[in-house]
Amino acid sequence: MSVNKDVFAPWRAANEDFESTGAPPPGWEGVDRLPTALVPTHCCFCGVQCAMYLKVLDGTVIGVEPRDYPHNRGSLCPKGIVAYQQASHPDRLTYPLIRRGGKDSPLERASWDEALDYIVRRWQEIQASHGHDAIAVYSGSSMTNEKCYLMGKFARVGLRTRHVDYNGRLCMSSAAVAYARAFGLDRCPLPMPDIALSRCLLIVGSNTAECFPIVMRWIWAARDNGARLIVLDPRQTPVARTADLWLPVRPGTDIAVLNAMLRQIVHDGLIDAQYIADRTVGWDAVREAVEPYTPEVAERIAGVPAERIIAAARLYGQSSPSLILHARGIEHSTHGVNACLACINLALARGQVGKPGGGTTMLTGQGNGQGGREVGQKANQLPGYRHIDVPEDRAYIARIWGIPVEELPGEGAAATEMIGLMADGRIKSCLVICSNLMVSLPENAVVRRALRNLDPLVVMDFFLSETAELADVVLPTAVWCEDEGTTTNLEGRVVKINRAANPPGEARRDWEIICDLARRLGRGQFFPYRSVREIWDEYRLASRGGVADYYGITWEKIEAQQGVFWPCPTLDSPGTPRLFTERFAHPDGRARFIPVVYEPPAEEPGGDFPFRLTTGRVVYHYLSGNQTRRLGFLNSQAPEPWVEIHPHAAARLGIQDGDRVRVRTPRGAMELKALVTATIRPDTLFIPFHYGHAQAVNQLTIPAVEPTVKIPEFKVCAAAIERLEEPPGPATGARENHTPTTAPAMFPYTAGEVHAPAAADREGP
Ligand code: SF4
Repeated sequence: MSVNKDVFAPWRAANEDFESTGAPPPGWEGVDRLPTALVPTHCCFCGVQCAMYLKVLDGTVIGVEPRDYPHNRGSLCPKGIVAYQQASHPDRLTYPLIRRGGKDSPLERASWDEALDYIVRRWQEIQASHGHDAIAVYSGSSMTNEKCYLMGKFARVGLRTRHVDYNGRLCMSSAAVAYARAFGLDRCPLPMPDIALSRCLLIVGSNTAECFPIVMRWIWAARDNGARLIVLDPRQTPVARTADLWLPVRPGTDIAVLNAMLRQIVHDGLIDAQYIADRTVGWDAVREAVEPYTPEVAERIAGVPAERIIAAARLYGQSSPSLILHARGIEHSTHGVNACLACINLALARGQVGKPGGGTTMLTGQGNGQGGREVGQKANQLPGYRHIDVPEDRAYIARIWGIPVEELPGEGAAATEMIGLMADGRIKSCLVICSNLMVSLPENAVVRRALRNLDPLVVMDFFLSETAELADVVLPTAVWCEDEGTTTNLEGRVVKINRAANPPGEARRDWEIICDLARRLGRGQFFPYRSVREIWDEYRLASRGGVADYYGITWEKIEAQQGVFWPCPTLDSPGTPRLFTERFAHPDGRARFIPVVYEPPAEEPGGDFPFRLTTGRVVYHYLSGNQTRRLGFLNSQAPEPWVEIHPHAAARLGIQDGDRVRVRTPRGAMELKALVTATIRPDTLFIPFHYGHAQAVNQLTIPAVEPTVKIPEFKVCAAAIERLEEPPGPATGARENHTPTTAPAMFPYTAGEVHAPAAADREGP
């Protein structure tokens, strides 16, 4: 545990006064006892990883203080302020649970020996009969780099299965692949404060103000400096309400608008020809590919007025530096890779990538979404962003792990593919850690049947999630502030999480449980760690020479420099905050233009399902809500999901604000409250995804996936909505605070158009 003594001193002195006099010192009246330590660490929630201090009294975390760091400058959002309340939460799991009488028997208290021996005996029986690959590991990216690294190694060396993947597959795997293909390296190219340098921000598919409140401080800084702001989104989200231009795109059609903007930039002579010639390859193919996307064609496909597309292209194309920020709105798509490539093509054509304040970047959602996809827990990856099919990469990692290279399994199933293998019996047991599949995967009725097919389903978690409720064995783990390690934030900055307390009851730290399981499997010699630092030092070696080279990142350097950006290949290197300033990571140093065309989503509206349903986050919750739904303040603000519907559509269907409605898709139906708001397109419905059981929107979503990275199409499927009950009184109309004055002009549609999308809407140019 690392303690900042300068900050801690006043608290300690006050407490000493308190204890010696029996009365609170001046200024502390009414306070029973004061914290005896402030532990510097980072928030456990989103990819920003804001720095904070945790207040500790007698080994218990009792509060939080903001902490100044280059990217959050002492700010925390509503989630960060209450994150500490998880540690002493009454719902914490404090001992192992086991189901002794089969699937329908209750979960009962067990000892660690009973639980772990049972798991290992079943795994050995299964593997003896069905081979190593009959067991899978489904991991998460909200854990530290050390834990994520350990999960990949445990699967491949402890269990010797090829089936290991993680929940980042559901998050932004499409962006990761697009960046790797275009730039040769998958990382945000610039530090967060660079946003303030930009003269024009183009935000694509990101509800930034709610999902990344602390990123907004840099967007405001850019705005204070005169930057223009363009937002492409089906909803007029809080950030869109402050934009110079909002492009209200139909869900799933962003590529048509992005290609049309690039075409307009070409026609206006706004490309950076010198940059294209000096630093890229493939421009001619992209220029030809975007030519059919006139503003009028894009308007027909995407529903964005042609003049707005032209205005956006000119605003963006005449500004430098300009920065594109994109997120799940375009990445959760069967065309997510191509949508990210369309953003990259725009930025490259304008010569922006590699400039301070310029280029394109993804806004990583999960706490360690960046690090979690580099350390080797992905189906096709080895540590350091090495590829599991490359012989040199396999040989290097086998040597680090001390196993013959032929023992290292090959590529396994993606997280979304595992469900099918569980359902048909090829995967017979799964270890789930830090993931809540029953809330986060699409079409969750199918997921439930697949999980029920496992024997055993083993879940490691600190709360009984909707997925843990189905487990045969539940192993209680530590929350983030009860362990230490590193995470890599959305900038690519590696930061240090410090321990502030011990796990409650019999709960154990995740890495200790994994090492114990390995020992019981007879593979303990490969997992001899006595501390997290030993795991970190092994990972530094494992990543050495890889694309994501962490070798030079010591914990001491992280503390001294306020984070270290990878790549950091040597102990002398300070790290690399800005990427691609001189060359890209492909062997020839050039970026790749990659042409993309618009293709419709997997499921289009029509017939009984006339709307496009899209899903997303709200500021008060994190991912599946397993943590934030238990935190009083956050849950009180957003205790249940709702469906947003435009007043035109609502009026036609007789729906008033607050009515109970049923939303249906070809996969199921759910009942919830309607929020009638003019901030959404009339042909679109929106439901937040943080809720479980009957409130889970993933009852409705489509299991279609992007063909290369297998990310699900969470952002669009066909849906219907109907009112369930008589309105309680006179029509209330749209909610005031969701009704921007510009909304009527943005949506010149009649209600009938919502039901009858033109055939052209479903076609390419
Ligand atoms: Fe910062 Fe994200 Fe935590 Fe909010 S949730 S405090 S933005 S890291």
